[in-house]
Amino acid sequence: MGKTSLPPVVVWFRDDLRLADNLALTNAVRSGQPLWCVYVRPAGAACTTALDWWQTRSVQALDHALRAYGGRLHLFVGQAEQILPDLVREGGCTQVFWNRRYDPAGKATDTRLKAQLKQMGVVVHSTPGSLLHEPWTVRSKAGQPFQVFGAFWRAASATAHYPAPLPVPPSMAFAPCTALPDAQILPDAAVQNLPGWAEAMQPYHAFAEQDAYAQLHDFMAHALQNYAQDRDFPSRDATSELSPFLRTGQITPAQIWHAVAAADAQDGGAKFLSEIGWREFAWSLLWEHPDMSTRNLRPEFDTMPWRVDPKGLECWQKGRTGYPLVDAGMRQLWQTGLMHNRVRMVVASFLVKHLLIDWREGERWFAHTLVDHDPASNPMNWQWNAGTGVESAPFFRIMNPILQSQKFDPDGVYIRTWVPELAGLHGPDIHTPWQATLLQPTGYPSPIVDHGVARARALAAWNAQKSGI
Ligand code: FAD
Repeated sequence: MGKTSLPPVVVWFRDDLRLADNLALTNAVRSGQPLWCVYVRPAGAACTTALDWWQTRSVQALDHALRAYGGRLHLFVGQAEQILPDLVREGGCTQVFWNRRYDPAGKATDTRLKAQLKQMGVVVHSTPGSLLHEPWTVRSKAGQPFQVFGAFWRAASATAHYPAPLPVPPSMAFAPCTALPDAQILPDAAVQNLPGWAEAMQPYHAFAEQDAYAQLHDFMAHALQNYAQDRDFPSRDATSELSPFLRTGQITPAQIWHAVAAADAQDGGAKFLSEIGWREFAWSLLWEHPDMSTRNLRPEFDTMPWRVDPKGLECWQKGRTGYPLVDAGMRQLWQTGLMHNRVRMVVASFLVKHLLIDWREGERWFAHTLVDHDPASNPMNWQWNAGTGVESAPFFRIMNPILQSQKFDPDGVYIRTWVPELAGLHGPDIHTPWQATLLQPTGYPSPIVDHGVARARALAAWNAQKSGI
């Protein structure tokens, strides 16, 4: 702990659980005053979703990182609008530092809190933190937000001068925490009562900032060069799996951009950075459409005759549709909190088109089960796949789950990993187990819908909706 009589400054960590490239933390250190590092978890959100669990573990990892510098992360449970003012009052603080959030609820809280703290004579320093471009900054020549990714990313890339990422502050002084209210719960205690389902995901993940860098560098060493060709094949270790770290900020897109730009990986590098660009695009869409997770961005879909089918929905959620690639994806999601991007597209298409279930059901399930659940990328991608988004695949383009399986998992390696009942099937039967002649898989369901019938039903619904029948 630093020995000083200056009052502490508060650093409020949110979606920026890192020490490097953290402008709020760096500015707080530069103030010359000792730090109180704080995280606030909403009351009642102990560990319901996969992301809750990921956040809890990530907060604990940040606490450990701060301890190595002689500090702590103080975790509070409750309303930030109550806790932060109490805290600054207790400590006699005059400055609070945070990196901005852009989701509608976070933005609203921060605006109210900033005004409240200002009234108390406290200066709030809010800085950019989790995007290359703040969501309102990439605009067409006419000053309008872009509706199409290609134009968005061309405009964003044309102005790409990203400052070099900040290092971890070389020295940090921390104030003793005796003045903090009794309500504090330390991160280690928060992980003691995690549910069993969450702990079962543990072997698939690491949470520290160093783990994120290690993963980036490993990806760059073995997969970046061929990223453009290999990224659609779920059994190849061809993508970065950085999305959970980006979600909670153990790594920044600026750190990724600089590392990749320096690697000169040509096509692979450009394609990979454009995927980072899709994340930026999603945030700019959410900024314009704060209700994007509940409202069709194409209003003509408001009259779409979605089916209410709880049984079908449950088969999809549990990975028991009888279509191996769909089921493998849904089971990977349940067991690990992640799913490969190509498979996310296939399962989304299956829910919305083969089962004709409203995309919002799928969006909600992903929000519950993904460790990388992102309030911008999730609805944007669901709307893209459902055909309801501003830029999206047309509804009539219906992915054939058998052809997708044959094309992107030709040897069935991915399917066998997640659907053990099919492990004994070899050759093309792995994609169509109901046609297997030699070995009938036991316990694996028959297809819950016939592809051709479901396709025709989806097109009929779409045509009816278009013509207002
Ligand atoms: P890589 O291929 O290594 O890409 C690098 C990074 O680029 C990713 O980590 C991610 O931040 C970004 N990225 C890549 N593809 C996309 C994309 N299509 N849209 C936005 N950003 C992208 N991604 C999330 O981070 N959170 C979500 O909640 C989410 N929900 C999705 C829902 C559906 C229906 C679909 C089809 C996709 C969704 N995605 C979501 C996008 C994508 O599937 C994941 O970002 C990707 O699979 C993460 O794996 P990766 O880190 O290995 O990606």
